[in-house]
Amino acid sequence: MTTLLWGAATDVGRTRKGNEDSYFAGERVFAVADGLGGHRAGEVASAIVVDLIAHVEQAPDPAAALEQAILEANDTIFERAQGDPQTSGMATTVTAVAFNGNVAHLAHVGDSRCYLLRDGALRQMSRDHTLVARLVEEGSLTSEAAETHPQRSVLTRAVGSEPAVAVDGDDVPLLSGDRLMLCSDGLSSVVSEDAIAGVLESVTDPQHACAQLVDQANSLGGPDNITVLIVDVQDVAAAAPQPTRSIMASPGDGRRPKARRLPRRAVAWTAVIAIVLVGSLIGLKAWANRSWYVGVQDGRVAIYKGLPTDFIISLSSVQEQTEIAVDTVAPYYRPRLTEGIRAESLRAARGLVARIPLAPAAALPTPTPTPAATPTPTPTST
Ligand code: CA
Repeated sequence: MTTLLWGAATDVGRTRKGNEDSYFAGERVFAVADGLGGHRAGEVASAIVVDLIAHVEQAPDPAAALEQAILEANDTIFERAQGDPQTSGMATTVTAVAFNGNVAHLAHVGDSRCYLLRDGALRQMSRDHTLVARLVEEGSLTSEAAETHPQRSVLTRAVGSEPAVAVDGDDVPLLSGDRLMLCSDGLSSVVSEDAIAGVLESVTDPQHACAQLVDQANSLGGPDNITVLIVDVQDVAAAAPQPTRSIMASPGDGRRPKARRLPRRAVAWTAVIAIVLVGSLIGLKAWANRSWYVGVQDGRVAIYKGLPTDFIISLSSVQEQTEIAVDTVAPYYRPRLTEGIRAESLRAARGLVARIPLAPAAALPTPTPTPAATPTPTPTST
Protein backbone atom coordinates (compact mmCIF):
# COMPACT_ATOMS: atom_id res chain seq x y z
CA MET A 1 0.00 0.00 0.00
CA THR A 2 1.25 3.43 -0.92
CA THR A 3 0.88 5.77 2.07
CA LEU A 4 0.16 9.45 1.52
CA LEU A 5 0.57 12.31 3.98
CA TRP A 6 -0.77 15.70 2.99
CA GLY A 7 -1.16 19.28 4.06
CA ALA A 8 -2.98 22.22 2.45
CA ALA A 9 -3.39 25.95 2.92
CA THR A 10 -5.29 28.64 1.06
CA ASP A 11 -5.20 32.37 1.69
CA VAL A 12 -6.82 35.46 0.19
CA GLY A 13 -3.45 37.25 0.01
CA ARG A 14 -2.82 40.92 0.79
CA THR A 15 -4.63 42.78 -2.00
CA ARG A 16 -7.64 40.75 -3.19
CA LYS A 17 -11.07 41.09 -1.58
CA GLY A 18 -12.16 37.46 -1.96
CA ASN A 19 -10.48 34.09 -2.42
CA GLU A 20 -11.40 32.60 -5.79
CA ASP A 21 -9.09 29.58 -5.39
CA SER A 22 -10.52 26.19 -4.39
CA TYR A 23 -8.85 22.94 -3.47
CA PHE A 24 -9.77 19.35 -2.76
CA ALA A 25 -7.82 16.86 -0.68
CA GLY A 26 -9.25 13.35 -0.37
CA GLU A 27 -7.69 9.98 0.30
CA ARG A 28 -6.01 9.63 -3.08
CA VAL A 29 -7.29 12.56 -5.17
CA PHE A 30 -6.00 16.12 -4.81
CA ALA A 31 -6.73 19.26 -6.80
CA VAL A 32 -6.06 22.99 -6.88
CA ALA A 33 -8.21 25.36 -8.97
CA ASP A 34 -7.80 29.10 -9.52
CA GLY A 35 -11.05 30.76 -10.57
CA LEU A 36 -11.16 33.64 -13.05
CA GLY A 37 -13.90 36.09 -13.75
CA GLY A 38 -14.12 38.52 -10.86
CA HIS A 39 -17.22 39.52 -8.87
CA ARG A 40 -16.99 36.14 -7.12
CA ALA A 41 -17.70 34.31 -10.43
CA GLY A 42 -14.24 32.76 -10.35
CA GLU A 43 -15.06 31.31 -6.96
CA VAL A 44 -18.09 29.57 -8.50
CA ALA A 45 -16.04 28.17 -11.39
CA SER A 46 -13.20 26.82 -9.24
CA ALA A 47 -15.72 25.24 -6.82
CA ILE A 48 -17.52 23.47 -9.70
CA VAL A 49 -14.39 21.72 -10.99
CA VAL A 50 -13.18 20.78 -7.52
CA ASP A 51 -16.60 19.33 -6.56
CA LEU A 52 -16.69 17.18 -9.69
CA ILE A 53 -13.12 15.98 -9.09
CA ALA A 54 -14.07 14.90 -5.56
CA HIS A 55 -16.17 12.09 -7.12
CA VAL A 56 -13.07 10.63 -8.82
CA GLU A 57 -12.07 9.25 -5.40
CA GLN A 58 -14.36 6.22 -5.93
CA ALA A 59 -13.65 5.62 -9.65
CA PRO A 60 -12.09 2.30 -10.76
CA ASP A 61 -10.06 4.08 -13.46
CA PRO A 62 -8.98 7.37 -11.83
CA ALA A 63 -6.99 8.67 -14.82
CA ALA A 64 -9.98 8.49 -17.16
CA ALA A 65 -12.37 9.68 -14.44
CA LEU A 66 -10.18 12.70 -13.72
CA GLU A 67 -10.22 13.82 -17.36
CA GLN A 68 -13.95 13.14 -17.57
CA ALA A 69 -14.62 15.24 -14.44
CA ILE A 70 -12.73 18.19 -15.94
CA LEU A 71 -14.58 17.88 -19.27
CA GLU A 72 -17.86 17.79 -17.37
CA ALA A 73 -16.80 20.88 -15.38
CA ASN A 74 -16.02 22.61 -18.67
CA ASP A 75 -19.58 21.93 -19.92
CA THR A 76 -21.17 23.01 -16.64
CA ILE A 77 -19.15 26.23 -16.25
CA PHE A 78 -19.50 27.22 -19.90
CA GLU A 79 -23.27 26.65 -19.93
CA ARG A 80 -23.84 28.45 -16.61
CA ALA A 81 -21.70 31.40 -17.73
CA GLN A 82 -23.74 31.67 -20.94
CA GLY A 83 -27.06 31.69 -19.13
CA ASP A 84 -26.23 33.96 -16.19
CA PRO A 85 -24.92 37.54 -16.63
CA GLN A 86 -23.58 37.43 -13.02
CA THR A 87 -21.11 34.70 -13.92
CA SER A 88 -20.57 35.58 -17.58
CA GLY A 89 -16.98 34.92 -18.61
CA MET A 90 -16.09 32.82 -15.58
CA ALA A 91 -13.53 30.04 -15.96
CA THR A 92 -10.95 28.24 -13.87
CA THR A 93 -7.57 26.56 -13.97
CA VAL A 94 -7.23 23.08 -12.53
CA THR A 95 -4.24 20.95 -11.58
CA ALA A 96 -5.20 17.58 -10.13
CA VAL A 97 -3.50 14.35 -9.15
CA ALA A 98 -5.05 10.91 -8.60
CA PHE A 99 -2.81 8.35 -6.89
CA ASN A 100 -3.26 4.78 -8.06
CA GLY A 101 -0.81 2.20 -6.70
CA ASN A 102 2.68 3.29 -7.67
CA VAL A 103 1.57 5.92 -10.20
CA ALA A 104 0.24 9.46 -9.90
CA HIS A 105 -2.10 10.48 -12.72
CA LEU A 106 -1.81 14.18 -13.42
CA ALA A 107 -4.55 16.21 -15.16
CA HIS A 108 -4.01 19.88 -15.88
CA VAL A 109 -5.45 22.98 -17.59
CA GLY A 110 -4.19 26.54 -17.07
CA ASP A 111 -1.34 28.02 -15.04
CA SER A 112 -1.69 26.41 -11.64
CA ARG A 113 1.25 24.06 -11.21
CA CYS A 114 2.32 20.61 -10.10
CA TYR A 115 5.89 20.21 -8.83
CA LEU A 116 7.79 17.08 -7.86
CA LEU A 117 10.58 17.19 -5.28
CA ARG A 118 12.73 14.06 -5.66
CA ASP A 119 16.26 13.59 -4.30
CA GLY A 120 16.51 17.30 -3.50
CA ALA A 121 15.63 18.43 -7.04
CA LEU A 122 12.44 20.37 -7.78
CA ARG A 123 10.81 19.73 -11.16
CA GLN A 124 7.70 21.36 -12.63
CA MET A 125 5.48 18.50 -13.89
CA SER A 126 2.73 20.61 -15.49
CA ARG A 127 3.06 22.84 -18.54
CA ASP A 128 1.68 26.39 -18.15
CA HIS A 129 -1.06 27.16 -20.66
CA THR A 130 -0.10 30.82 -20.90
CA LEU A 131 0.82 33.16 -23.70
CA VAL A 132 4.33 33.71 -22.31
CA ALA A 133 4.93 29.95 -21.88
CA ARG A 134 4.02 29.51 -25.54
CA LEU A 135 6.41 32.32 -26.55
CA VAL A 136 9.19 30.72 -24.46
CA GLU A 137 8.52 27.32 -26.09
CA GLU A 138 8.65 28.95 -29.53
CA GLY A 139 11.96 30.59 -28.61
CA SER A 140 10.72 34.17 -29.00
CA LEU A 141 10.96 34.99 -25.27
CA THR A 142 13.52 34.00 -22.63
CA SER A 143 12.25 32.39 -19.43
CA GLU A 144 13.80 35.29 -17.46
CA ALA A 145 11.81 37.84 -19.51
CA ALA A 146 8.67 35.71 -19.07
CA GLU A 147 8.87 36.02 -15.27
CA THR A 148 8.29 39.77 -15.40
CA HIS A 149 6.27 40.00 -18.64
CA PRO A 150 3.20 42.26 -18.15
CA GLN A 151 0.97 39.65 -19.81
CA ARG A 152 2.38 36.65 -17.95
CA SER A 153 -1.03 35.73 -16.53
CA VAL A 154 -2.83 35.62 -19.90
CA LEU A 155 -4.08 32.04 -20.29
CA THR A 156 -4.28 30.14 -23.55
CA ARG A 157 -6.46 27.42 -21.98
CA ALA A 158 -8.95 27.41 -19.10
CA VAL A 159 -11.84 25.24 -17.94
CA GLY A 160 -15.19 26.74 -18.97
CA SER A 161 -14.03 29.56 -21.24
CA GLU A 162 -14.75 27.67 -24.48
CA PRO A 163 -17.30 24.99 -25.42
CA ALA A 164 -14.50 22.38 -25.43
CA VAL A 165 -11.20 22.04 -23.60
CA ALA A 166 -8.15 19.80 -24.01
CA VAL A 167 -6.85 18.35 -20.74
CA ASP A 168 -3.13 17.62 -20.34
CA GLY A 169 -2.59 14.19 -18.81
CA ASP A 170 0.55 12.53 -17.52
CA ASP A 171 1.45 9.46 -15.49
CA VAL A 172 4.20 9.95 -12.93
CA PRO A 173 5.75 6.69 -11.62
CA LEU A 174 6.29 7.19 -7.89
CA LEU A 175 9.19 6.50 -5.56
CA SER A 176 9.08 6.44 -1.78
CA GLY A 177 10.06 9.87 -0.49
CA ASP A 178 8.56 11.78 -3.42
CA ARG A 179 6.93 15.07 -2.46
CA LEU A 180 4.31 16.51 -4.82
CA MET A 181 3.12 20.09 -4.56
CA LEU A 182 0.11 21.64 -6.27
CA CYS A 183 -0.24 25.43 -6.16
CA SER A 184 -2.01 28.39 -7.70
CA ASP A 185 0.00 31.15 -9.39
CA GLY A 186 -0.42 33.27 -6.25
CA LEU A 187 2.53 31.19 -4.98
CA SER A 188 4.52 30.31 -8.12
CA SER A 189 4.54 33.78 -9.68
CA VAL A 190 5.55 35.43 -6.40
CA VAL A 191 7.95 33.05 -4.62
CA SER A 192 10.99 31.88 -6.61
CA GLU A 193 11.47 28.20 -7.39
CA ASP A 194 14.67 28.18 -5.33
CA ALA A 195 12.81 29.51 -2.31
CA ILE A 196 9.98 26.97 -2.83
CA ALA A 197 12.54 24.16 -3.08
CA GLY A 198 14.22 25.41 0.10
CA VAL A 199 11.00 25.13 2.11
CA LEU A 200 10.00 21.78 0.58
CA GLU A 201 13.42 20.33 1.42
CA SER A 202 13.75 21.67 4.94
CA VAL A 203 10.22 21.50 6.40
CA THR A 204 9.23 17.86 6.94
CA ASP A 205 5.62 18.32 8.04
CA PRO A 206 3.52 18.98 4.90
CA GLN A 207 1.05 21.22 6.73
CA HIS A 208 3.83 23.38 8.18
CA ALA A 209 5.49 23.59 4.74
CA CYS A 210 2.21 24.81 3.17
CA ALA A 211 1.82 27.46 5.89
CA GLN A 212 5.41 28.66 5.41
CA LEU A 213 4.99 28.97 1.64
CA VAL A 214 1.77 31.00 2.07
CA ASP A 215 3.64 33.26 4.56
CA GLN A 216 6.47 33.78 2.05
CA ALA A 217 4.02 34.82 -0.71
CA ASN A 218 2.31 37.24 1.68
CA SER A 219 5.62 38.68 2.84
CA LEU A 220 6.40 39.43 -0.82
CA GLY A 221 3.19 41.45 -1.15
CA GLY A 222 0.57 38.69 -1.53
CA PRO A 223 -0.81 40.20 -4.75
CA ASP A 224 -3.08 37.22 -5.50
CA ASN A 225 -4.92 34.38 -3.77
CA ILE A 226 -2.46 31.69 -2.63
CA THR A 227 -3.20 27.97 -2.46
CA VAL A 228 -0.63 25.26 -1.70
CA LEU A 229 -1.22 21.53 -1.34
CA ILE A 230 1.61 19.11 -0.53
CA VAL A 231 1.40 15.31 -0.75
CA ASP A 232 4.21 13.15 0.65
CA VAL A 233 4.53 9.66 -0.82
CA GLN A 234 5.68 6.93 1.56
CA ASP A 235 6.07 3.15 1.12
CA VAL A 236 5.23 3.01 -2.59
CA ALA A 237 3.46 -0.22 -3.51
CA ALA A 238 5.72 -2.39 -5.70
CA ALA A 239 3.69 -3.49 -8.71
CA ALA A 240 5.41 -3.64 -12.09
CA PRO A 241 8.59 -5.68 -11.44
CA GLN A 242 6.81 -8.89 -10.33
CA PRO A 243 6.42 -10.64 -13.71
CA THR A 244 10.11 -10.19 -14.57
CA ARG A 245 11.19 -11.68 -11.25
CA SER A 246 9.37 -14.94 -11.93
CA ILE A 247 10.87 -15.17 -15.43
CA MET A 248 14.38 -14.82 -13.99
CA ALA A 249 13.84 -17.36 -11.22
CA SER A 250 12.77 -20.46 -13.14
CA PRO A 251 15.46 -21.12 -15.81
CA GLY A 252 18.28 -19.88 -13.54
CA ASP A 253 18.15 -23.13 -11.55
CA GLY A 254 19.24 -25.37 -14.44
CA ARG A 255 22.76 -26.56 -13.51
CA ARG A 256 24.44 -27.60 -16.70
CA PRO A 257 28.06 -26.55 -16.20
CA LYS A 258 29.08 -26.16 -19.85
CA ALA A 259 26.10 -24.15 -20.99
CA ARG A 260 26.01 -21.95 -17.91
CA ARG A 261 27.24 -18.68 -19.36
CA LEU A 262 24.97 -18.70 -22.35
CA PRO A 263 21.65 -19.39 -20.58
CA ARG A 264 22.52 -16.78 -17.96
CA ARG A 265 23.00 -14.20 -20.65
CA ALA A 266 19.86 -15.42 -22.40
CA VAL A 267 17.96 -15.20 -19.14
CA ALA A 268 19.25 -11.68 -18.57
CA TRP A 269 18.18 -10.68 -22.06
CA THR A 270 14.79 -12.33 -21.59
CA ALA A 271 14.40 -10.32 -18.38
CA VAL A 272 15.42 -7.08 -20.12
CA ILE A 273 13.00 -7.75 -22.98
CA ALA A 274 10.27 -8.66 -20.49
CA ILE A 275 10.87 -5.45 -18.50
CA VAL A 276 10.77 -3.37 -21.68
CA LEU A 277 7.67 -5.23 -22.90
CA VAL A 278 5.78 -4.96 -19.61
CA GLY A 279 6.81 -1.31 -19.34
CA SER A 280 5.68 -0.58 -22.90
CA LEU A 281 2.39 -2.38 -22.36
CA ILE A 282 1.69 -0.42 -19.17
CA GLY A 283 2.68 2.81 -20.91
CA LEU A 284 0.62 1.99 -23.99
CA LYS A 285 -2.41 1.05 -21.90
CA ALA A 286 -2.14 4.34 -19.98
CA TRP A 287 -1.77 6.24 -23.25
CA ALA A 288 -4.70 4.35 -24.76
CA ASN A 289 -6.83 5.20 -21.73
CA ARG A 290 -6.43 8.89 -22.52
CA SER A 291 -6.91 8.60 -26.29
CA TRP A 292 -9.93 8.75 -28.55
CA TYR A 293 -10.49 8.18 -32.23
CA VAL A 294 -13.22 8.01 -34.81
CA GLY A 295 -13.29 4.77 -36.78
CA VAL A 296 -15.59 2.16 -38.25
CA GLN A 297 -17.52 -0.72 -36.70
CA ASP A 298 -19.87 -2.99 -38.69
CA GLY A 299 -19.99 -0.54 -41.59
CA ARG A 300 -20.92 2.43 -39.42
CA VAL A 301 -18.92 5.31 -38.00
CA ALA A 302 -18.08 4.79 -34.33
CA ILE A 303 -16.21 6.62 -31.58
CA TYR A 304 -13.52 4.51 -29.95
CA LYS A 305 -11.67 4.99 -26.72
CA GLY A 306 -8.05 3.95 -27.15
CA LEU A 307 -5.58 3.74 -29.99
CA PRO A 308 -6.39 2.64 -33.54
CA THR A 309 -3.70 -0.06 -33.49
CA ASP A 310 -3.29 -3.25 -31.51
CA PHE A 311 0.03 -4.14 -29.85
CA ILE A 312 -0.12 -7.65 -28.37
CA ILE A 313 -3.25 -6.57 -26.50
CA SER A 314 -6.26 -4.74 -27.87
CA LEU A 315 -5.91 -1.04 -27.19
CA SER A 316 -9.39 0.23 -27.95
CA SER A 317 -13.10 -0.30 -27.45
CA VAL A 318 -16.19 1.28 -29.01
CA GLN A 319 -17.68 4.02 -26.83
CA GLU A 320 -20.39 5.32 -29.14
CA GLN A 321 -21.89 3.84 -32.30
CA THR A 322 -23.33 6.38 -34.75
CA GLU A 323 -26.03 6.07 -37.42
CA ILE A 324 -23.67 7.18 -40.17
CA ALA A 325 -23.08 4.34 -42.66
CA VAL A 326 -19.57 4.44 -44.13
CA ASP A 327 -21.16 4.11 -47.63
CA THR A 328 -22.71 7.56 -47.19
CA VAL A 329 -19.39 9.26 -46.31
CA ALA A 330 -17.54 11.18 -49.03
CA PRO A 331 -15.31 8.55 -50.76
CA TYR A 332 -12.08 10.53 -50.23
CA TYR A 333 -12.71 10.52 -46.48
CA ARG A 334 -13.42 6.78 -46.05
CA PRO A 335 -9.75 5.61 -45.90
CA ARG A 336 -9.12 8.10 -43.08
CA LEU A 337 -12.01 6.60 -41.12
CA THR A 338 -10.73 3.06 -41.74
CA GLU A 339 -7.33 4.09 -40.39
CA GLY A 340 -8.91 5.91 -37.43
CA ILE A 341 -8.87 9.69 -36.86
CA ARG A 342 -7.35 10.64 -33.49
CA ALA A 343 -9.21 13.10 -31.22
CA GLU A 344 -8.11 14.79 -28.00
CA SER A 345 -11.28 13.97 -26.06
CA LEU A 346 -14.73 12.42 -26.37
CA ARG A 347 -16.13 15.88 -27.12
CA ALA A 348 -13.57 16.44 -29.84
CA ALA A 349 -14.43 13.02 -31.32
CA ARG A 350 -18.14 13.95 -31.33
CA GLY A 351 -17.18 17.22 -33.04
CA LEU A 352 -15.29 15.24 -35.70
CA VAL A 353 -18.33 13.01 -36.26
CA ALA A 354 -20.57 16.06 -36.67
CA ARG A 355 -18.23 17.40 -39.37
CA ILE A 356 -17.78 14.17 -41.39
CA PRO A 357 -18.24 15.08 -45.06
CA LEU A 358 -21.04 13.05 -46.64
CA ALA A 359 -21.13 11.91 -50.25
CA PRO A 360 -23.46 13.93 -52.53
CA ALA A 361 -26.87 12.20 -52.53
CA ALA A 362 -26.66 11.55 -56.29
CA ALA A 363 -23.38 9.71 -55.93
CA LEU A 364 -24.76 7.25 -53.40
CA PRO A 365 -24.31 3.65 -54.48
CA THR A 366 -27.88 2.60 -53.66
CA PRO A 367 -31.16 4.48 -54.00
CA THR A 368 -32.28 3.51 -50.47
CA PRO A 369 -31.37 6.43 -48.21
CA THR A 370 -30.09 5.86 -44.68
CA PRO A 371 -31.60 7.99 -41.90
CA ALA A 372 -28.30 9.73 -41.20
CA ALA A 373 -27.66 10.81 -44.79
CA THR A 374 -31.05 12.24 -45.76
CA PRO A 375 -33.41 13.76 -43.21
CA THR A 376 -36.40 13.66 -45.64
CA PRO A 377 -39.00 11.33 -44.20
CA THR A 378 -39.68 8.26 -46.33
CA PRO A 379 -42.47 5.82 -45.59
CA THR A 380 -40.38 2.87 -46.79
CA SER A 381 -37.91 1.53 -44.33
CA THR A 382 -34.83 -0.47 -45.39
CA1 CA B 1 -4.48 33.44 -9.39
